[in-house]
Parts: sequence; C-alpha cells; structure tokens
Amino acid sequence: MSYLFKEISKKWQQKWQEKKVFYTKEDVSSPKYYCLEMFPYPSGKMHMGHLRNYSIGDVTARYHRALGYNVLYPMGWDAFGLPAENAAIENNLSPKDWTIGNIAQMRYQLESIGLSYDWEREQITCLPDYYRHEQEMFISFLENGIAYQKESDVNWDPVDNTVLANEQVIDGRGWRSGALIEKKKLNQWFLKITDFAEDLSDSLDSLKDWPESVKVMQKNWIGVSEGALIDFEILTIDNIENNIYNFYNFDYKINENQKKELEIEIKNNIKSLNLNKLTIYTTKPETIFGASFIAISIEHELVKKIESYFTIIDNFLFNLKKTDKKKLNNQFNLKKTEELKKFIDECKLYYEIINKKIKKSEEIEKIGFFTGFYAIHPFYNEYPDSIQKLIPIYIANFVISDYGTGAIFGCPAHDKRDYEFAIKYQLPIKPVVKPLIQSSQEEDINSDHKSDTIISSLHKDIDYKTYKYNPIPYIESGIIFNSGPIDGFTTEDAKKFIINKLESSGFGLGKKKYRIRDWGISRQRYWGCPIPIIYCPKCGTIPVDRSDLPILLPENPDFEKSGNPLIYDDSWRVTKCHICGSNAQRETDTFDTFFESSWYFLRFCSKKDEKNLNISDLKKWMPVDQYIGGIEHAILHLLYARFFVRALSKCGYFNKDDIGGILEPFKSLLTQGMVCNMAFKDENGKWINGQDSYIQKDGSYICKKTSRKLYPVGVEKMSKSKFNGINPDDIIDNYGADAARLFILSDSPPDKNLEWSNTGIDGAYRYLNKIYTIAEDLSKKNEKIKLIDIALKIKAEYLNNKNIFNKSFNNEISYFIEQITLKNLCNPDILKKIHRYIANVSDDIKLFKINKAIAKIRELSNLYFHCESDFDKIFLIIVVIILLSPITPHLSEEIWEMFGFTEIYGMLSEIRYWPDYNKQIINESIINLPVQLNGKLKGIISIYSDMSEESIVKTAIDNISALSNTIYKNKDHNHSNNLDYEKNQIGKIIKKVIYIPQKILNIII
Ligand SMILES: [Zn+2]
Repeated sequence: MSYLFKEISKKWQQKWQEKKVFYTKEDVSSPKYYCLEMFPYPSGKMHMGHLRNYSIGDVTARYHRALGYNVLYPMGWDAFGLPAENAAIENNLSPKDWTIGNIAQMRYQLESIGLSYDWEREQITCLPDYYRHEQEMFISFLENGIAYQKESDVNWDPVDNTVLANEQVIDGRGWRSGALIEKKKLNQWFLKITDFAEDLSDSLDSLKDWPESVKVMQKNWIGVSEGALIDFEILTIDNIENNIYNFYNFDYKINENQKKELEIEIKNNIKSLNLNKLTIYTTKPETIFGASFIAISIEHELVKKIESYFTIIDNFLFNLKKTDKKKLNNQFNLKKTEELKKFIDECKLYYEIINKKIKKSEEIEKIGFFTGFYAIHPFYNEYPDSIQKLIPIYIANFVISDYGTGAIFGCPAHDKRDYEFAIKYQLPIKPVVKPLIQSSQEEDINSDHKSDTIISSLHKDIDYKTYKYNPIPYIESGIIFNSGPIDGFTTEDAKKFIINKLESSGFGLGKKKYRIRDWGISRQRYWGCPIPIIYCPKCGTIPVDRSDLPILLPENPDFEKSGNPLIYDDSWRVTKCHICGSNAQRETDTFDTFFESSWYFLRFCSKKDEKNLNISDLKKWMPVDQYIGGIEHAILHLLYARFFVRALSKCGYFNKDDIGGILEPFKSLLTQGMVCNMAFKDENGKWINGQDSYIQKDGSYICKKTSRKLYPVGVEKMSKSKFNGINPDDIIDNYGADAARLFILSDSPPDKNLEWSNTGIDGAYRYLNKIYTIAEDLSKKNEKIKLIDIALKIKAEYLNNKNIFNKSFNNEISYFIEQITLKNLCNPDILKKIHRYIANVSDDIKLFKINKAIAKIRELSNLYFHCESDFDKIFLIIVVIILLSPITPHLSEEIWEMFGFTEIYGMLSEIRYWPDYNKQIINESIINLPVQLNGKLKGIISIYSDMSEESIVKTAIDNISALSNTIYKNKDHNHSNNLDYEKNQIGKIIKKVIYIPQKILNIII
C-alpha cells in the first residue's frame, strides 16, 4: 500500500482554502502572534532556500495557532527590481507582465507545499495601491528633513549613455556594452539615516532575541566611534623664513630687501585667506602626544587657500626672476602652483583605481604633498617637553574628504597608513601606547620592525630607549606612555582625559563619528516606484501635491533607446507645476527597491483595501513576533527597516506605543542557514552537474549518464553557476510536500547550513509512508470505533464543564489526552512516554530546535512496536500526527480524518489542539543522576528513569560543560551538524562507561 501524497495534499489544500482557515481573525480574546518571513523577489522560481525559509515560518505559525494564538502570517512580493527590467529588454516584454506572471507561478508553488498564509493580505509592491503610500512617506520625509538631494557619483556607461547599477558593472565594465565605466556626478535623493545612527546602534542591545552575530554586523556597519575634533593653529607669517626657504629649497638667497618685500606681499594677502586654524578629526585623541604630521584631503577647503598662497609667491618670484635674470634663471622651472595641480591629478588617478575596484584603498601607495605650512601642537605650551612643537601639514591621498573634517593628525606608531606615510616621507615615529601585558613573543609575531631602528633621526632628543618591546605600528588599546599628563593611563581613560582637556582649554571637543553614510535612494531605472518630485523653472525642486498621488509608473515603457525610458517619455515626464502652473518636469529617478521592503511589515497589519497605515491595526499586530530570513540581509534590509520605523515615527505616522512600546519592528529574528549540496568539476576544472553520479569502490565519482569521472569540490551553497541546485518542484513531485518539508527541517537546526542528501529525502518519505500505512491499517480495526466512542463522551464532558475546564486545559484535545491517561485506558508505560515526548517536542519547537523535535517524534513513533493493543497503537499514532502536524500538515489532517476525529473536533488547522502534558507523570519519572569523569564528580543531570544508557551519556555530555569541552575539544567545526560524526568522535574519546542504573554514571576517557 503506498501513500497517495499528491491527492492528499491537494485535498487538504482545497479544504483549507474553501474554509479560509488561515485568514487572519478579528479575535481580541487571544494573544496575537505575528510571524513573518522575508518576502521574496518574484523571480518565477522557488528554490531550496525559499522552501526552507517558508517551512520554518509555517511550522512556527501553525504551532502558535495550535497553541491558541491569534496568528498573522502574511505573504507578499518584493516586486520592483532590476531583473524584471533586464528580462523585459531581452525578451521584449513589459516588466510588469513579466513580474505578475512570475508571481502567479510562485504563488502556485508556495501553495503546493501547504504554507498557511493569509493570502487575503497579499501585497505586491509594484502595484500603485502599495507604492502610493511610500510616495507619501517620502514627502513626509522631505517635510521633516529626513530626505534631501545632493550630488553623488553614479556608474556611467559612456557607450550606452546610461547609468548602471553596481551589479551591472562587471570588472569595471558595463554588462552590455563592455565599455569602461566612468564615475559621473548626478543630483540624487538621500535619506538621513545618519541622524538615527546612534540610536540604531545603541538599541541593538535591547533586541534580546536577535542572533548576536547579526547585532555585531549591524554595529560594525553603523560603526560608531568616539573621537574628537581638535583645532591646530597654523603657523604662517611669524616664521616666514622657515616656511619659504625650507619649502622652496633653493640655494639662491634673496636679499634682505627682497625678503621684506615678499613678507609685505604675503602679509597683505594672507589675511583674506584666513589661514589660521585647521580642525582635524580623530578617533584616537589619546595618541595626540605622538602626532608627527597633519594630512588633509585634496578636497579640503585649505587646499584652495594654499593654492592662492602659492600663487602670491610664484608671482613674486616670477617678477623677481624677470628683473634679476642671471641669478634666478634656472631655479623656478616648476612653479609651486603647478606642482600642486600635478599632485592633485595624481591623487585622482588613485581614486579611480579604487573606484573601479582595481585595488582596495588600503593597497594603494600613500602619497603626500608638503604644503610648507606647520601647525602648532595644541598642548605644546603646557607640556613642551613631551611634544613635537611644529607639525608639518601635508595634502595626502589617503585622507578622504567625507571622513570627519577631511583632515587628520598622523600618529605613525599607532596607525598603519600613518606609519607607511611616515616611513616614506621620513617623519618622526613616536610611540605612545604599549600593550597592557608585555610579551617577548609579540615582538616577533607582529612586526618585522623593531622600534628603535626606525625612530627618525629628526627626533634624537627624545629618549626612546625605554621602548624596545613593541611591534610598530601598534594599533590595539593599551597603556599610554611618552605623553606627559596621561602617562600610565589606559587608552580608554586617556581618551576621556584628552577630550575633557580639549573642551576645557577650548582647543576642541568630543565628537562621535559613524561609518554609515546616508542612504542614497535614487535609481536611474524604470522599474521602481517614481519619486514624487517635480522640477519647476519658477518654484524649483518641489514635492508633488499629496492630492496628485499616486504618481503612476507609465505602463509599456520603450526600451529601444538605452537608459531609463522615463527620460524619453515626454507624455509622462512633462507636467504642470501645481503651484504656479508652469510647465515642469517630473523626477525620472525611481526609489531603490530596498525602500519597499523597509515598511511592508507595517502594511501587512491592515487588510488590502485600507487607505493607509492604520494605527489600530498597528497596535493590534506590531511588532513582528518572529521574523525569519537569510543572513545575507543581516545588514542593509534589517537596518533600513529599523530606520524606517524611527523615521515614520518622527514624521508622526505613529508613536512607539502604537507599535509595541519600542521603535523596533522585529522582536525576534531567526536567520536560517543556507541549503548546500556537493558541487563537482570535470577534468577541465569546469563546474558540472554531478547530481546523477554514483561512488565507485575506490571513492571516485562517476556520472551515471556519461560515465565520466567527476571531481567533488566540496559542499557549497546551491547555485546556478555551480550546477549543484536541486529543484524543489521535482522533490515535491517525487516525494510530496510533507516529505520535502520534513527532510528540509530535520537534518540540521534552522540557523545552521543544511546539506542536501538524497538518502535523507528518501528516509523522510519512507517514514511518512510507514506512518500512513500503519494508520490506514489501524483505521480498519474495531478498536477505532471504541476510541471514537470514548472521544465523543469526553467531548461531551468537556462541553458540559467548559467553564471549569477552560481554566485548566488549553483545549479539547488536551482534555481528551488527559482523560485517556487518568482513566488508564492505555498502557501506563506508553502513557508516561507519550507525556514526556509531548513535553520535549513542544519545548524544542518553541526554541526552534525543529530538527531535534523531529528526531523525538520519530523516536516516539517507534513505541508503536512496543504497544500491545490496537487501542494503544491508535492512541499513539494520534499523538504522533498531532505533534507532526505543523511539519507535515497534509498527512496529519488525513490520518486525523481517517480515525474519525475531524468529524468530532474539526480539521486540525482550524482548531486549537496543541496537547498539554501531565506534569505529575513527568516529574514522577525524573531522577537526578550524579555524573563523574574519570571518577571525579563533574555535575548532576536530570534523566528519566527508563532512559537508555546511550541517551544518558549523550545528555550528560550535552549538559555538563566540563564533559562537552573535553569530548569536543578537538572537534572539526566543518562537521558540526553531522550526527554520525559526533557519535564517532564520542566513541573515539570515551574508553569506558560505567553506569549503575539510576545511581551514578562514570565516564572514563
Ligand atoms: Zn511652479
């Protein structure tokens, strides 16, 4: 007898749909539970990653419904984006038709695996009833200073005359034209996420149910660093001799009169240049006593002033040269102004190399241009002995204009870039931080350089002999030395001290800096939400009037010309200004598609036909209780979503009490692991599909079809390019939705990678087939009638006493199981175990240990072979299918019906049925067992009296850290998910187990 999974799945999917069992209920008496998976881009094909993601979510949603929660579990489509546009260009289709077609296809695929979505709330972001709201949000952002426009770089394809997205630039060239991509400046729209940076970073600590790794990634991305702005006085006129002569480095000395003249010339002009102060930003103010130079970016405002200054001198010398030809003839071939221009051009070449990703910024050579100016160390007057007074000012290619103030002080002993620069230009390298604990080995490990060999000759006056032990540059924190008042401070304390000192003396102030930049949301693309802006020749750049929303994206774009079709569509682009009536132009850029996914979880709270974000709906559902998605979205999507709730709240859309008392959209986050599979190459080193291969005795892989030898490369994420993907449709077709779900959830914890295995999916199928066959057989027995009679009586009892029972029982099914137990209708040993498995499986599902829950359900089903009566068997199978129901819902419904329970209680999917367990029974069989390692007591574990020796050993290892640390000490992390491997490993290390039942366990290693 084989199990007709196709018919069964179809039957139940239809019944669920007919009865609308998954539609969100207007139920205020039950607690709410909002379960959400990151919605997909409608590529048209569901892949294994989707199947896994949604199976995890579906288990969570079904389990909470069974517990009695009022569950919101919606699904939608992140439908704007580049692939649609590319497909449209290639296949001469409209992006909309392509997208809507894909959505239909994928929705069908999702339905075929029995996901319990409320399709009534489906959202499609490329349709106006979705995107109109975000146009309004953008206008609110503008009004509240959260959106603004500025010039910014884009990738420009000079052959196609179009802007390209980053992913369309391949190795620095346009994906279609192959042309070298240029950077071009365009006016673009930005959202001020930096205004929220500090809160976005600090609030991560309040997200207790987020993976630590995601929080760390977000923190690093936001990159809050505490630093200081420091003012340096620039030395100019007082020391003209130094400045001019050192700087121009000429042998020829101009005479006293000429010098006076030059001085007057400079003095007359210098005031207007306002060259007296330079503010630098540093994240390490505590190293200020080690400052040896200042570097500014080529875009720093000082550069222009210096250029003017050079012009004055160049002109003066040029005039001098004219009158004094003989002596000056060969000396000023190259004017300083020209030298500076040449340098700036050289820097720009380096930036191009970085922009085109030919080299990383840390890999390029550091070059500098000495300006001839010096700054005075702000603390020199107070601590003349510990400080280099005059600090040369350079223009340097490694200082970026939008970092801090575009000016830094260099402390070469404690920064890699500064160090490289100082070596190159022979600047002093003065160490001021040493490690907390000195280790003689560190010296060898960390650096080839010994500090005393590189101290520049310029600073012989400072005794660095005490400094022999540190690697240079030493960039970690530590203890300050060579630094006057802060000697002996920790770097952290020193930072505070210096910031206080700067603030009290008026030389500077503490300032936090963020690595994160404002979010550029303009995309020069058609298939996105139009940005609701018009450019009026009279009124300027203005948002469209709210009453004109939505600004619809024109259908049937013309992709004949390259670039964004909105630019060529005059009937759309040209409009009338709503203020003055002049002819105006629409903004032709569209939103970054991350815009749509930044607020869709709010939209799901209301039904489709609602006008806008509805406060009472938000109150009912926000925050999302469980969010599930891939780790690849750990940074941008989650950060943007967290930013959006803050920004919308600032604009008055809601306040924090409306969305759960905290401005965070996702209470708990699960990042599911990837689905991986063995990938193969052929003899030429090309990726090849090896799914049809078998292993020979010598361990080599042979392709069944071609008999060629294949070379396994390793277990890698399923991907098209590596031909190691498995199509979920094929699996569902061959094994059924329930087996696919069971396998994909059973082999590893949801947050770890899953390795595909054909034997695994086979095993899952065989297990379900066995359960089905047993159930079908049992359903024909007389004992079934007896059980139904009992169930009917128990139900009547329950209904008669509902008010009393409601307090002690979750639901009717719990009551049923309890009554069977109390009336001793089943073998007491079997009952004991059933209650224990109910407890364990419930705990595991609650904690997302779905793989462990499945393993336990399978153990429970093996009790079947220990049951003596048919009655016991039927009762056992009922409990098994109840526990399995969130995972294999079709099969569970089928067997539930087969035993006659649907008629008594209704479909599992529409009732509250999660069973309670009898605590007393469980407690009676729990024993506290002392555990020894080599005869020494290491801890006490709780076990059940009838547990096998093997599972007791495993429990001991899992629960006593002294044991797990010893056993897993040398564990290979690549195998961390592999149970067989674990078993072997344990077997290798443990020499002997002495177990005196219920008294003591001694493990000998
Ligand atoms: Zn106007």
